[in-house]
Amino acid sequence: MSDLAVVNCRQLVTLSGPRRPRSGAEMRELAIITGGAMRIRDGRIAAVGPRREIYRSLAEDTEIVDAGGRIVLPGFVDAHTHPVFAGTRADEFEQRTGGASYSEIAAAGGGIRSTVRKTRAASESALLDASRRYAGWFLRGGTTTIEAKSGYGLSLEDETKILRVIRLLHSERRLRYVPTFLGAHEVPDEYAGRREEYAEAVIHEMLPQIAEDQLAEYCDVFCEPDVFPAPQAAAILRAARALHLGIRMHADQFSADHGSLLAAELGAATADHLERTTPAGLAALQAAGVQPVLLPGSVYNLGSSEYPAARQMIGLGMPLVLATDFNPGSSPTTSMTMVLSLACTHMKMTPAEALTAATVNAAWSLGRGRELGSLEPGKQADFVIHECDDYRELPYFFGRETAAAVYLGGACVYRRSD
Ligand SMILES: [Zn+2]
Repeated sequence: MSDLAVVNCRQLVTLSGPRRPRSGAEMRELAIITGGAMRIRDGRIAAVGPRREIYRSLAEDTEIVDAGGRIVLPGFVDAHTHPVFAGTRADEFEQRTGGASYSEIAAAGGGIRSTVRKTRAASESALLDASRRYAGWFLRGGTTTIEAKSGYGLSLEDETKILRVIRLLHSERRLRYVPTFLGAHEVPDEYAGRREEYAEAVIHEMLPQIAEDQLAEYCDVFCEPDVFPAPQAAAILRAARALHLGIRMHADQFSADHGSLLAAELGAATADHLERTTPAGLAALQAAGVQPVLLPGSVYNLGSSEYPAARQMIGLGMPLVLATDFNPGSSPTTSMTMVLSLACTHMKMTPAEALTAATVNAAWSLGRGRELGSLEPGKQADFVIHECDDYRELPYFFGRETAAAVYLGGACVYRRSD
């Protein structure tokens, strides 16, 4: 593989900096090189710097990628998605326009359980086809890595089917996937009224098999008093930890501090959502070093105005992460630029803070901080040429797809054809 050089970047947004998640004022430091260039060898970044400096070191057969005076960024790292499911819930979306709430629809047998029924009925190859289509959407939005949760199978057979699809997708080398087991996403129909028994099945049947087959790196639980209350969530997550899985949690989306306090107690990698978290919950997370993953797309899509308290969290020095929560029910979007826009308009994050949360901080939350999330020598050459003159245009011109070309490990995986 010959060397690659990316030249003619109006802004090369490197996000280079300390080798750890960024917090406080660091989140506003993007280390932009105006008129920058980048040299890549064997799929990894070899050098970044001013154009003249990079040109001096180029080998003769270097392949040149001309950014055309546009901006170049690390690929987005989307640290919370549910990308493998069958069907859609466009019908429920319509019902919600008529006033039905998300929880009313779920109580009537819709919601997550309706996607579970469709996903169980789908073959592995049908799920693969659907998920490949969404992988293309992520790429078009400038995302190069996603955390991918199971959770629409809720049985050993169907959860492993989903996780195998995720493994296959990752092996195709278009988009990177970090797999998370979310067997405790909801209680399936056949366990109605027997939540404890289902939690036992997650612990004793599913987790050991999934760990043995190395199908997941993380375990996640939907922790809410009426779904998986804290004691049950704790039992599942402790079992996962004993099998050397990392811990992520759906926390405080609908009720305050159950999930956040448990995430702090367990020292989880992340606590995700946090729309209802009180100052006590935030303080506990901060003290335990748990990274918050904020999901404004689901707040928006559910028609709520209760966005998480991003400014308070930044003020506390928490290294925020932003993600899409891509899923068929509450956040059907793969667009990280839409998430950036929501973060700026509704959570008052600056464009620079939002970008840090969507790249380098997200990479650290997935244990990939040394490999991904910024454009620094030694890291994977996962970068995107965006059709913009200034990085602030990404959240500013909202609702447009800006990626012109996407590279993964130095190989072009998407190029816009217009
Ligand atoms: Zn989620």
